[in-house]
Amino acid sequence: MIKERLVSIKSTLPQHVTLVAVSKTKPVEFIREAFEAGQKSFGENKVQEMEQKHQQLPADIDWHLIGHLQTNKVKYIAPFVKLIHSVDSEKLLKEIDKQGAKAQRVIDCLIQVHIAKEETKFGMSYEEAGSFFERKVFENYPYTRVKGLMGMASNVADESVIRSEFRGLKKFFDSLNERGFGLEILSMGMSHDYKIAVEEGSTMVRVGSAIFGER
Ligand SMILES: *Cc1c(COP(=O)(O)O)cnc(C)c1O
Repeated sequence: MIKERLVSIKSTLPQHVTLVAVSKTKPVEFIREAFEAGQKSFGENKVQEMEQKHQQLPADIDWHLIGHLQTNKVKYIAPFVKLIHSVDSEKLLKEIDKQGAKAQRVIDCLIQVHIAKEETKFGMSYEEAGSFFERKVFENYPYTRVKGLMGMASNVADESVIRSEFRGLKKFFDSLNERGFGLEILSMGMSHDYKIAVEEGSTMVRVGSAIFGER
């Protein structure tokens, strides 16, 4: 079942879009099944859960941290995490840099931008993110590499709202690249809205329930 769902989702994605299979709350057996079907990237939103799964599963899985990250937990994932999607402050980037230095590896990160109407979603405002790039904050942190942006659209039925939020983030992404920031990854789209996200320029989708079933 997992394999069939993966194949079907992948067949709808353009070549340049990376699929991150969001495995949060799901057992390692599910991840193993997806991995054996050729899926390499998995997303988790909790540090402890990711760490435990990492220990139990093949070492060549790429682990993506997609949820809110507390500074005191960075040390647990710094040695192995592939990409942190949820950097929302300089304080957090600084800690990732510190732990990257300790682990002797450069850690790839995305800046999470708050694009939804809901108050509860994490991320920098456009204004904060703009200033973050303008001030070239990341130049102080050589053990991090800011590779792009992540955003979550509002959880609403109205597709036009979702589409315009994704379109806004893509526009911001393009404007940063016009200014020479060389961003490669635009992480947007989940199970219910990844098709819209891809149409609006996403290069990385984070799909959970459409692969592994409802949580
Ligand atoms: C859980 C989660 C997803 C996947 O959600 P689905 O609706 O299961 O596809 C994607 N991104 C983030 C940040 C998440 O927390």
